[in-house]
Amino acid sequence: MPVEIPREKIPWFPRVDNDLCAGCMQCFEFCRNGVYLWDEEENHPLVAQPYNCVVGCSACANLCPNGAISFPSKQEIIQLIKKLREEVGEKA
Ligand code: SF4
Ligand code: SF4
Repeated sequence: MPVEIPREKIPWFPRVDNDLCAGCMQCFEFCRNGVYLWDEEENHPLVAQPYNCVVGCSACANLCPNGAISFPSKQEIIQLIKKLREEVGEKA
């Protein structure tokens, strides 16, 4: 059985650069996981539920016409998950 790691230990979620964001709402409308809320006043997405983001998904970043959404390096996250699995495995 694979070792379960709490989602909150994996820092995979979108970061939005508001200076680059044009307020087109595509990311907000696309994501079905409730990661984003829409900030009406600022006309930008808010990353309201970061840990609802699916680890490894970066679909909204690919969709963004302005390159305003970024994610950590996948390689770094894979290394971190390996390390966490070893730690959890040692405790089990
Ligand atoms: S897709 Fe990009 S430009 Fe459009 S609202 Fe989202 S972050 Fe802003
Ligand atoms: S990467 Fe995928 S799951 Fe995460 S916020 Fe974007 S569309 Fe939603």
